[in-house]
Amino acid sequence: MIKGQKSVRNGIEDFLCPFTDMYISQGSNGSYSHKGIMANDVRGLQAGVRYPYYAPCTCKCIRTYPSSGQVMWQSVNKVRFANGRVDYATFMTVHDNSMDAKVGQVVEQGSQLGNMGTKGNATGVHCHIEVSQSADTSWIKNQYGIYHFNNEYDLDDCYFVDNTNILKGMGGNWRTTKDVAVQETSINNIEIVDQILHVGSKVKFDGIFKVDILKSPLSSNLFGCCQLTGCSYNSYKTEQVKSHHWIPTSDFIEVDKNGHVTSDQVLSGGNSYVLNKNVYEVKDIDTKTNSAKLNINGRDVWVFSTFLYEVSNN
Ligand SMILES: [Zn+2]
Repeated sequence: MIKGQKSVRNGIEDFLCPFTDMYISQGSNGSYSHKGIMANDVRGLQAGVRYPYYAPCTCKCIRTYPSSGQVMWQSVNKVRFANGRVDYATFMTVHDNSMDAKVGQVVEQGSQLGNMGTKGNATGVHCHIEVSQSADTSWIKNQYGIYHFNNEYDLDDCYFVDNTNILKGMGGNWRTTKDVAVQETSINNIEIVDQILHVGSKVKFDGIFKVDILKSPLSSNLFGCCQLTGCSYNSYKTEQVKSHHWIPTSDFIEVDKNGHVTSDQVLSGGNSYVLNKNVYEVKDIDTKTNSAKLNINGRDVWVFSTFLYEVSNN
């Protein structure tokens, strides 16, 4: 990226490569100080020059380690990574001789974050960087005694290289934002908002779902959908599932595999497909299972958030 660059799609910042010129002098899982960790040491166009680097997303200073010019940053909101994941970014930058970040300080995407340097245990001017695709700020030693994050990803799965000159890329699968398409900004003229669900978000079901089993007696008008709830067919069958995993049929329309409405509208377990065009309000969120609680026809149901898309309140 270059100074001042921003990239936001559907209200979510793309996590950009902080460097304008990227020469990787030590890659992930290197034999030396990167053993078992997903870190890169990056220098710029000329060796020995303390080039600036920029905030890959709008981020907050979580912790500083002045003796090594080191800062732990975390994205203020969830961001989009080069592997398509949307999550918080927690990342470390190291060796900045002029490090002046303060805990709590927020830096806007594209503003200067620091300078490459030699502070701490560094060989030559560079920035050591590693990224966790999570909000976990644990900074822990691995079996080789080297500090790292949980949920670290290789850097080519983390940042988009729009406007970065790759001088030495270590064979990484470097992607730009053009390589990672995002969902349309409007479906049925309803604007999609940030897609980060919270209590009160308005959502619609995204897709066609298979009816795996009908609850007996059939007059209960409830069905089980393994894809939406994560429950297995067998657990539905043996009634091991919680009651909130049975979904009322009332708001669903039977369709064939291609989404065409069927004439009979009589569901059968294992054969029918359904879709739902209604808008629901999220009643609760479970971040552990990434599920949202919706009230469908008077019944609280937990479904995976990934099959919902957020729509605007209008
Ligand atoms: Zn390093």
